[in-house]
Amino acid sequence: MKEYRKPLPQPTPWSKPFWDGCKRHEFLIQRCKDCQRPIFFPKLFCPYCLSPNPEWVKASGRGKVYSYTVVYSYGPTEFSEDTPYIIGVIDLEEGVRMMSNIVECPPEKVRCDMEVEVVFDDVTEETTLPKFRPINERR
Ligand SMILES: [Zn+2]
Repeated sequence: MKEYRKPLPQPTPWSKPFWDGCKRHEFLIQRCKDCQRPIFFPKLFCPYCLSPNPEWVKASGRGKVYSYTVVYSYGPTEFSEDTPYIIGVIDLEEGVRMMSNIVECPPEKVRCDMEVEVVFDDVTEETTLPKFRPINERR
């Protein structure tokens, strides 16, 4: 595996199940056992009803692009070799929003409301990052 030199997630005890799921290529979010609302990012308590009972559920991994930006230039960091790349805000089918990279998509083709699905990028032995690719507009 090629050396990965970018920053890596530092899981907390309450976010570790999310990252462990990614490593298994399973996309998990939390849902409150009491009010049933979906929760992302991982929390110890439900942000809606303050229940201490969020549970982990498997999510579809599908959603739509809410917003995005294309990074064409960047300072001399580990990210500069990836330009141009897309940072997207994804509205998941389950009703939560997350930020990630949109991959397998030319920057000029990305648009809001584009349907996307999760793909898993095993960047190190220990860490897998969830990213999103277009569902219908793959090259
Ligand atoms: Zn709740």
